[in-house]
Amino acid sequence: MWAFLDGEFVEEKDRHIKLENRGLTFADGLFEVIRTIESKILFFEDHFSRMQKSAIHFDIDLPYCSEYIKNAAHELIKKNGIEDGELYLELTRGTDLHRDHRYPPKRTPSTFFMLALPLRHIDRENWKKGVKLLTYPDLRHKLCEHKTINLLPNVLAKNYAYSNGGYEALMYREERNYRYVTEGGSSNYFMVKDGVLHTPEIDNILPGITREKVTKIIHGLGYELHERRVGLEEFLTADEVFLVSTVSRVMPVHSIDDVHFDAPGTITLKVQEAYEKIFFSFL
Ligand code: PMP
Repeated sequence: MWAFLDGEFVEEKDRHIKLENRGLTFADGLFEVIRTIESKILFFEDHFSRMQKSAIHFDIDLPYCSEYIKNAAHELIKKNGIEDGELYLELTRGTDLHRDHRYPPKRTPSTFFMLALPLRHIDRENWKKGVKLLTYPDLRHKLCEHKTINLLPNVLAKNYAYSNGGYEALMYREERNYRYVTEGGSSNYFMVKDGVLHTPEIDNILPGITREKVTKIIHGLGYELHERRVGLEEFLTADEVFLVSTVSRVMPVHSIDDVHFDAPGTITLKVQEAYEKIFFSFL
């Protein structure tokens, strides 16, 4: 498999990254996961601009324009023969031989690489019958609106879900004995109650690209949608729940811990159908 590393296409044996890279020593970096379908890249500009905004926010140099990266990504996809797959982008604050927490006031040369990977396996039945979620405390820092490579709590949450027969974790935070839902290890959530949709507000969650597309779909379908703090108890008494992400698209949820839902619900199906239409329009 080829990778694209700091402006060059490199084979596995030629991928030299210093162990002092701040991505490895401090998780000081950003990433993106982008879906490819029949070698087309979905929502590239949205993903690139999310990375670019965070790079500016954290003062990490992103030395390429969107057009350059997109062309390189197409070339990489072709070289690796990936049709339905995942494009992984990572940007770190480069090498720091002194391993100093402070980063130099003058920007260090950053590290940028891309991988084009085959699509991970997801059982097709999940989209039809729904998946199980496991509740898990959100142990993360307060920079969750940025897609940083600082992912240990997400790894723990998803691993807990998988090892207990679930597909995703439903993460929650707690304030004054009130538990509210944030997001999944790598997904955003929506719930339906009495025909109205609710989704956790953009506050300590990643503004997912799929979440944004789905929000527009919901408005377009004429449903009421509230973006607000949503209690965990509310999720447990929902009529329908679904998750959204680049890889999972719109996926119904049939249970949270031991609480069961009708899945897929009527509104979930409509949203799923509308999203699939956009998804396949890339072909
Ligand atoms: N939340 C988190 C924490 C994620 O890692 C992801 C996956 N990138 C999402 C939500 C969904 O975002 P997107 O729709 O951009 O894939």
